[in-house]
Amino acid sequence: MINYPIRFFNTNIPTNKCNLRCHYCYVGQTYSFNNENLDKELEYSFDHMRKCLSKSRLGGVCMFNLCAPGETMLYKQLPEIVQMFLELGHYVSIVTNLVVDKTLDRIVEIAGSNRDRLFVKCSFHYLELNRLGLVDVFVANVNKLKDASISFTVELTANDESIKHIPDIKQLCISRLGAFPHIVESRNERDENFPRLTQLLISEHQLAWQGLSSPLFNYQQKHYEKYIPDFCLAGDVSLCLDIASGIVSKCEGAKQLSNIYDNPDEDYVFSGIGANCPTPHCFINYVHSALCGCFSDDAPTYAEERDRVCADGSHWLTPVMREVFSHRMSEWHTPYSEDKKLFIDTLMRWNYRKISPTDDEKLRLADIFKGTLSDIKIGLVLAPPYLAELLKPFTRFTIDREPEESSPSLKQKLKCLFRYLHKKLLRRRESLGFFDNLPKTDMIIICDYEHYNKHSKRLAGKKTVNILELVK
Ligand code: SF4
Repeated sequence: MINYPIRFFNTNIPTNKCNLRCHYCYVGQTYSFNNENLDKELEYSFDHMRKCLSKSRLGGVCMFNLCAPGETMLYKQLPEIVQMFLELGHYVSIVTNLVVDKTLDRIVEIAGSNRDRLFVKCSFHYLELNRLGLVDVFVANVNKLKDASISFTVELTANDESIKHIPDIKQLCISRLGAFPHIVESRNERDENFPRLTQLLISEHQLAWQGLSSPLFNYQQKHYEKYIPDFCLAGDVSLCLDIASGIVSKCEGAKQLSNIYDNPDEDYVFSGIGANCPTPHCFINYVHSALCGCFSDDAPTYAEERDRVCADGSHWLTPVMREVFSHRMSEWHTPYSEDKKLFIDTLMRWNYRKISPTDDEKLRLADIFKGTLSDIKIGLVLAPPYLAELLKPFTRFTIDREPEESSPSLKQKLKCLFRYLHKKLLRRRESLGFFDNLPKTDMIIICDYEHYNKHSKRLAGKKTVNILELVK
């Protein structure tokens, strides 16, 4: 039976080191190739990481896409990281230029009986491989994966300088890898709008690369440079993780707020980003839409974008990976209700752009809260102003700011007690502190959802709820 992955973590592997010098790479574009001191140490032990990244804590089996700003396989602890994820029952995808033999051999060995859950994206840097005489090494390593029954894809980054070599690329790939490579668009990293890197007319550029019949390239061309205004599940189905520090963000370009290595005994709470995409266009839509299903459009399946059938009838993907990649991860999630979509969208809009809901949305939210909270009395922690206003009829007290001290002294505790009594006697609106003697409520809603655990600990003994879970 296949355990389908339900979440995708685009996982940063902390090395900038690289053994190639591709001009279209973003490191190459910013002239920052440098092989000194660019490995960052992991900040937590493997025991701690295993606890924090377990299936039970993350809500099920996930896929971790391991990719470094440099060459992923040059990171010294990559084999242990791969081993950790496979042993935890997750899927692993590795992005690599596939010429670091020793690490590849170690990973093939580690994969062992878990090889069905390993996928390797082999970046085919034709110009560099030729310059350095590494074409045979690359081809031998692709075949090593195939012989070990490990799923792979071969992908070439579209670049103007390689166009004149397309006939040779086709010939080499058909004769030695069984099929044409897939083609991925290159982007200009020096421009904040990430336009295509090509200097050609778009029509010339497309014509040149369409001859390789890559569904990945064709899909990207249809949607390139189009902003996604729809409700997006990034943050719930797909996330970005920095493996060294544990910092998580909902998507590339979104604020990095929470740390997955905090509070390992508590579940990590996920939620979509709503209609608040932080980037000018979804340049990794071939993953976010095709594999994750973060929003709907006409994306092919990820299997179509990654697999090839060779002349001898064999596939680049194993049957298990083909099946997994034929589904979108969002299929395994309960769809958001319309109420929840509105609630999450307005919350994220405030969080990411400090924009309040429209009057119409406020009316709808007020109705939702009336139905959800009815006779309940709540405490409200660190609420955005619009939410504090809408929840006022149910609110007995609010906590509006972080405490100055992490745990109060005896003197401070007495002050806290006095502050509450003082406010009670004067019948003032009760805006209290975390350590004040809080009046009785049915629940305390924590609106700073990324730091729910920290605040919940401060309010030990009280029933607390993460705002993300308020509307179902
Ligand atoms: S539309 Fe794409 S880039 Fe934007 S938030 Fe969603 S997944 Fe991220």
